[in-house]
Amino acid sequence: MNPSISAEATLTRGPLDDAKAQLAQAVAQLDVSEGVHRMLATSRREMAVAVPLRRDDGSIAVYEGFRVQHNFSRGPAKGGLRFSTAVDLDEVRALAMWMTWKCALVDVPYGGAKGGVAIEPRDHSVGELERVTRRYTSEILPIIGPDMDIPAPDIGTDERTMAWIMDTYSASKGHTVPGVVTGKPIALGGSLGRASATSRGVAHVALLAMASRGLEPARASAAVQGFGKVGRDAARFLQEAGVTVVAVSDVDGAVVNEGGLDVMRLAAHVDTTGSVRGFDGADELDRDALLTLDVDVLVPAALEGVITEDNAPDVKASIVVEGANGPTTQAADEILTDRDVLVVPDILANAGGVIVSYFEWVQSNQAYQWRESEVNERLGERMTNAWHAVVEHAGVHGTTYREAATALAVKRVIEAHDLRGLYP
Ligand code: NAD
Repeated sequence: MNPSISAEATLTRGPLDDAKAQLAQAVAQLDVSEGVHRMLATSRREMAVAVPLRRDDGSIAVYEGFRVQHNFSRGPAKGGLRFSTAVDLDEVRALAMWMTWKCALVDVPYGGAKGGVAIEPRDHSVGELERVTRRYTSEILPIIGPDMDIPAPDIGTDERTMAWIMDTYSASKGHTVPGVVTGKPIALGGSLGRASATSRGVAHVALLAMASRGLEPARASAAVQGFGKVGRDAARFLQEAGVTVVAVSDVDGAVVNEGGLDVMRLAAHVDTTGSVRGFDGADELDRDALLTLDVDVLVPAALEGVITEDNAPDVKASIVVEGANGPTTQAADEILTDRDVLVVPDILANAGGVIVSYFEWVQSNQAYQWRESEVNERLGERMTNAWHAVVEHAGVHGTTYREAATALAVKRVIEAHDLRGLYP
């Protein structure tokens, strides 16, 4: 083997290394046997599939697809489906593990899963995306289902993707099975409040974190990385709470207005042009400079691994609320902790999505729709409970919020595992 390649491979840390390091930290706090630790560090089931696509011009492309189910101790597996060229098996494994902890932390009866197809959705027509989704669904069909594994939207997928999955699955069963996915269109049994649930939860804990640091919303400023399903409404909810949202970014660039962006007007601009760039109510900013802006609250809501040991020393926000999964690398996390930056970890901050996905699954299985106010109220309750549990655990054990959240979650998964016993 080429020595330079192997050296690089050992030096490059990815999300799975971070997820495993976080698990190891949690295990160190708890009385966990080596065997159970090894079990929790390993996915229970992994499926890699080829997804052939007949393109609109008649040619055939083939994409890699994955579905990873990390744990089932507390219930069926649950997790998003991502369409992105960055998707690989290790990323999906990390995201599935984080889903297990997230579901346990907010006490929804699921284990963790994640799926992905290594495709750039912006390069494809709606027809091509539908064919890719249906083919991927048919490939992973044996391992999904309302009692087995329930996908939801993530990066590059949306409620339309969920409708195609639901239809493909239902066609194979011969009857409609709405509970096989969450994040569906309302007309197909989606839950009121699901589309903005992750963002609502992000804003909810951001406000709790600000209160814990004596920061009044009306005097606070925020920057949000990513203006997709999570970032856009997180910015909106923060603004509605009185926070001055000074900057947002997307894959194409960033915009800044020290006096505060008009988030709704910016959203209309993005709907028309496809990007935050060129918005007349703000100045352009280097995309990645958003992360080190002089704001009180930073909300990374795009990708993993964006706050690194290189830029963490320059982060000026005193609170980081992880809207995205895994946006802070392990090394960056240590730097932020040393600098007394309060990091609200992903498995707490963005859990609003899976909480309302759970509500949607309950409603789908019962064929009964709740009022939106009911959904939002129950979401707020669960986020607040999880927040207080994490703060209390961190206080008692002298840990960061991430360590506390992971330890609480791991403890619950182990409890379920112990009660069930190891088969056979
Ligand atoms: P999305 O595809 O709807 O939006 C992603 C956004 O990030 C887009 O605006 C995109 O332009 C932007 N982006 C991509 N690369 C960027 C870069 N380098 N710099 C700045 N912006 C960039 O995806 P989403 O559903 O909003 O997911 C975002 C994150 O939140 C992911 O980590 C996802 O796993 C996590 N998450 C999503 C949900 C959910 O309900 N959708 C729930 C929990 C966690």
